[in-house]
Amino acid sequence: MSRTLEECDAILILDFACDCDLMSVVRTRWYGPNAGWRFRECRDEECGFHKWVDEPPTDRTLEIIKELKERDSKHLDQARRRRDRLVAMYEARLTAEK
Ligand SMILES: [Zn+2]
Repeated sequence: MSRTLEECDAILILDFACDCDLMSVVRTRWYGPNAGWRFRECRDEECGFHKWVDEPPTDRTLEIIKELKERDSKHLDQARRRRDRLVAMYEARLTAEK
């Protein structure tokens, strides 16, 4: 079974207790000005424990993440258009066979 990066982070780094003595989890922020930056937080939302794990990303790192996300989004759009064309072709064929 494959896991998302965030799930892997959360599983691998359960070694630091927060202020309420629960093991905190590490997650990665994937949006906003801190994209790519990992942080620890308590599993209990009411605790409010939050601590950055990484140093602040450099402007270059943020630029690369932005470019990769744009590229990913373009590929997703292409894949959706391809899928829609295939569905339309398939439906046209079904209609023609009736
Ligand atoms: Zn806590």
